[in-house]
Amino acid sequence: MSSDSQYPTTNDSGIPVASDEHALSVGPDGPIVMHDHYLMEQMAAFNREMIPDRQPHAKGSGAFGHFEVTQDVSQYTKAKFLHPGTKTDVLIRFSTVAGESGSPDTWRDPRGFSIKFYTEEGNFDMVGNNTPVFFVRDPMKFQHFIHSQKRRADNGLRDHDMQWDFWTLAPESAHQVAWLMGDRGVPATWRHMNGYSSHTYMWVNAEGERFWVKYHFKTDQGIKCMTQEQADQMAGSDADYHRRDLYEAIKRGDYPTWTLKMQIMPFNDAKTYRVNPFDLTKVWSHKDYPLIEVGKLTLDRNPTDFHSEIEQAAFEPNNMVPGTGLSPDKMLLARSISYADAHRARLGVNYRHIPVNTPRCPVHSYSQGGAMRIQHSTDPVYTPNSKGGPKADAQRYPEDAVWSTDGQFVRAAYTLRKDDDDWNQAHTLVRQVMDDAQRDRLVSNVVGHLSGGVTEPVLARAFDYWRAIDQEVGERIEQGVRNQ
Ligand code: NDP
Repeated sequence: MSSDSQYPTTNDSGIPVASDEHALSVGPDGPIVMHDHYLMEQMAAFNREMIPDRQPHAKGSGAFGHFEVTQDVSQYTKAKFLHPGTKTDVLIRFSTVAGESGSPDTWRDPRGFSIKFYTEEGNFDMVGNNTPVFFVRDPMKFQHFIHSQKRRADNGLRDHDMQWDFWTLAPESAHQVAWLMGDRGVPATWRHMNGYSSHTYMWVNAEGERFWVKYHFKTDQGIKCMTQEQADQMAGSDADYHRRDLYEAIKRGDYPTWTLKMQIMPFNDAKTYRVNPFDLTKVWSHKDYPLIEVGKLTLDRNPTDFHSEIEQAAFEPNNMVPGTGLSPDKMLLARSISYADAHRARLGVNYRHIPVNTPRCPVHSYSQGGAMRIQHSTDPVYTPNSKGGPKADAQRYPEDAVWSTDGQFVRAAYTLRKDDDDWNQAHTLVRQVMDDAQRDRLVSNVVGHLSGGVTEPVLARAFDYWRAIDQEVGERIEQGVRNQ
């Protein structure tokens, strides 16, 4: 058959093929033959198209854009991409946590908010969420927490009883659960939500002075949320609503932006602040550490191949460039190991050779070999060497994002401070930040959630849990469930 296309179809080796429609056969009525390599290639490639889902954060999408520094924060960090006027290309990926890759975008869940900054000093990744806190503070609990939010072993179903069983036995979850059951638990779109580092990180300035910092990406589109009813309806009518919304907004030139603001804590304040500033279940009050503006993030380019640019994107909280660093947050320290390990398992050891993950600056590492290596290793492949290989430069790049600590090995998460209580901040959120209408929706959301298969004794514990957050809200939730 002649073609009106200017390109002849080829196989993956670039060799033109004779037919897009027919396998090579022994006569039109006979069997197909095994040496039809083009058919074999298509069947084999098809069988291998799917790669493992992320565990968790499987469902999501993303876009490209840039981050421009509009203010001067050089007194706090020497990171070049944070210096006044600097513009850096970025990739962002939004996601839900618990669902699989085809699950509805509007299930109630925190949203991932991951950004890769392609800086001139290497990739900087901020692997955040749309919430300032998290459910647990100790990485030993993380795997169990995610299991409790996903699917049962016996019937493969998600199970509210399992979710509340875990939450009520882990009271440090109260702040995040109160946030999740409130309006922000289902954003209207990804464009209408904030992003937070949640974790505390470090900044170091040119003089070596250190600060503890939290990143807040505030949406310039304004916060908008969906009610439970709207979210349920959308889950049935358009499971990919958030993915579609972002793609279409960028396609029509309606580029979403976020303003980066920081909370910055002087290094020594951490010793005496009234909550442990590294505990991921707590926020730092805005009144204590007001937000300091840094710059603007804009998304203006859609991916052209979802699989290679979004599905294979690998964000890792260990990607800290000079002037930035980790903190004693135990969850962050665990994530700084776990994410790179997840990418090696899911994408292969050379996942940073996939173009979307490749730094936009020269790489002079000594790593070598491994499956799917694309960038060439060069001699010398060892150090120390006298052959002109790369050399660490401690003068220019000192190991300065550090802190000191001592103590006996123990299995514990943080010594308690004056205001270190699991319920305080959840109570403030529910009683002081939310207004009456928001509290009504919170109660209704929790009543609906608990009525979806939660049984005794978990149910009784859930009522106690909510009374500990807020007596009145707890009473209303119990009445709402018992009186149905
Ligand atoms: P503030 O009154 O200064 O800050 C309250 C913040 O709460 C707002 O700035 C807003 O954060 C956020 N917020 C507003 N409405 C809602 C809602 N319905 N659901 C969730 N968050 C909402 O008080 P504090 O800083 O002293 O914090 C008080 C409580 O507010 C905390 O216990 C915490 O639960 C919550 N909160 C605090 C944040 C922080 O970083 N300090 C951030 C988010 C929540 P934003 O401007 O980021 O949208």
